[in-house]
Amino acid sequence: MDEHKENIEGKYVNVKMSEGTEEGQTKPCSRIHPDEETAPQTSQSNGDFSHPVYKEIALANGHINRMSKDELRVKLAELKLDTRGVKDVMKKRLKNHYKKQKLLQSAAEGGPTDTYYDFICVVDFEATCEEDNPPDFLHEIIEFPMVLIDTHTLQITDSFQAYVKPEVNPQLSDFCVKLTGIKQQTVDDAEPFPDVLHRVVEWLQERELGTKYKYAILTDGAWDMSKFLNIQCRVSSIRYPQFAKKWINIRKSYCNFYKVPRTQTKLSTMLEKLGMTYEGRPHCGLDDSRNIARIAIRMLQDGCQLRVNERMHGGQLLSVPSSAPVVGAPPPRKPSSRE
Ligand code: AMP
Ligand code: MG
Repeated sequence: MDEHKENIEGKYVNVKMSEGTEEGQTKPCSRIHPDEETAPQTSQSNGDFSHPVYKEIALANGHINRMSKDELRVKLAELKLDTRGVKDVMKKRLKNHYKKQKLLQSAAEGGPTDTYYDFICVVDFEATCEEDNPPDFLHEIIEFPMVLIDTHTLQITDSFQAYVKPEVNPQLSDFCVKLTGIKQQTVDDAEPFPDVLHRVVEWLQERELGTKYKYAILTDGAWDMSKFLNIQCRVSSIRYPQFAKKWINIRKSYCNFYKVPRTQTKLSTMLEKLGMTYEGRPHCGLDDSRNIARIAIRMLQDGCQLRVNERMHGGQLLSVPSSAPVVGAPPPRKPSSRE
């Protein structure tokens, strides 16, 4: 079911992966930057890994690589860390525990430091659809949910949900109602997209995101922004919002971090591999967002520094290299119309 999201053909978007070393959407995440496990993921990370702390981390990693599953479990338990998940997940968790400790120690002694997002805002749109969406199907957003993760406490602190009235095809297909659980009456009673986007911006502004607090958007796959939002903005004749131009694609982060093939990054598979189960109703945008947030929190707990890895530019989907600085999303602004 999840694969569908990344196979939907967009009418208005040219999907082109370029720039730097990140993986393309369709390729498995098999090629990892050689320095990725030990390299600093900071805005100062310009490839200077000569600080002795990186040698220490590399040595610890080598040791962990030689550990059996049982040894990993025992060590994690000793350190009072989570012992769930498959061997690769446990390995990564242990490596990042040591990496974090060593970097903290070295920062206290004047070594490399870090500034990270204060919040991550998970978005998972639901859109009009048909069974086997025809290639020219014009998807319109019908649910706009957001779930806010505080990266300091690693808790979900807030959420937002609004349904949206589709304008071009106001009638939902039976398939769409069944898939998303969204009723015809619900979208009939909802506001059109520009009004909902207005409320979304207010919600983000009230929480001082992009001003007082550094934040990034996170999605499950690239299509939420590069297809659904992009198409919707054209349908509604509004400019693509600046604050949504860059985001963290968790599928990409997940396969790079745990070193698994791209085929193992369906929402249900990611949950399963982390030893978790889906909570709520699949394809309810808010429940999907909450479950994506649970994965993001687990990844942060395991030491992954989730970073912006995709962006939209001139209607095209581009990759953001992992060496790019940790820049937060800009302050959200009220939707403006296209000339
Ligand atoms: P998801 O976040 O996986 O719930 O998917 C987002 C949107 O993608 C849905 O609201 C549908 O518009 C579309 N979609 C997802 N799965 C399917 C499917 N199996 N068939 C057709 N469209 C789908
Ligand atoms: Mg969804």
